[in-house]
Amino acid sequence: MTEPTQTSPAIDTSVAHPARRYNYWLGGKDNFAADRESADAIEQKFPGMRAGIRANRDVLGRMTRFLAADGGIRQFLDIGTGLPTEDNTHEVAQRVAPDSRVMYVDNDPLVMTHARALLTSTGEGVTDYIEADLRDPQAILAALRQRDTLDLSRPVALMLIAILHFIPGQGEARPIVRQLLDELPSGSYLAATHFTLDFMPEHEQNTYRQMLDSGMSDIWPRDRAEFTTLFDGLEMVDPGIVLVSKWRPQTDDDSVDPSRISIWAGVARKP
Ligand code: SAH
Repeated sequence: MTEPTQTSPAIDTSVAHPARRYNYWLGGKDNFAADRESADAIEQKFPGMRAGIRANRDVLGRMTRFLAADGGIRQFLDIGTGLPTEDNTHEVAQRVAPDSRVMYVDNDPLVMTHARALLTSTGEGVTDYIEADLRDPQAILAALRQRDTLDLSRPVALMLIAILHFIPGQGEARPIVRQLLDELPSGSYLAATHFTLDFMPEHEQNTYRQMLDSGMSDIWPRDRAEFTTLFDGLEMVDPGIVLVSKWRPQTDDDSVDPSRISIWAGVARKP
């Protein structure tokens, strides 16, 4: 396979990066040998990864459509942009409401390079980018205030799709989500998805934990109880917290083994 050529000194291709590995699992070309090796090693032990990633990408589209169409949301703060692929957040939102404004945030310089080149808005809408780390939510908020892309006095959808599992540690995700939500007005939404071991048989859970301990995986799972705490004080949107493939699916395919998906999903509104 040929390597993508657009690199800069800030872009280290020798270590696996989440966005590039995710891109590989989705069948994209913006990934390097280290990403593919890491992805294959995880997938060998846990063959559900690819199906889960696909289902996650699909729910991102359904959630965005719901937020724009049913929630009336016109401002999106999408943290964990990912490498541009089909149906990116701004495209889905702007198909529903062309004046939608999307602020993308990511900490991978390769994502930022591609995003600036490819995630461009048409006409009435706006897309903008912040290179920042979710582990420092105050820096994200400060950068937001420096720009006029999003009006923080009006409702914003905070999208944390397949990113919170890169914040390791029991209880570590919630304070970050809180700090961001605290700055958003009533009528804002939180949309989140998160990797979990909840659906796996115990022996697979143990194998996965060993992978985490040995540094073979950097994807930190959370159980339903902890994922639920992220939505404390918010009004859950139907159908509540469910497997990504069960969140307002267009066709309900019961043949999919939940342990192959293993990603929780939820959307809630700030009262
Ligand atoms: N939200 C997209 C992409 C998910 S891949 C989707 O669901 O399809 C996860 C993304 O989060 C990657 O682009 C990765 O670079 C980014 N990411 C991981 N940890 C991060 C952190 N601490 N701060 C900012 N971005 C991070």
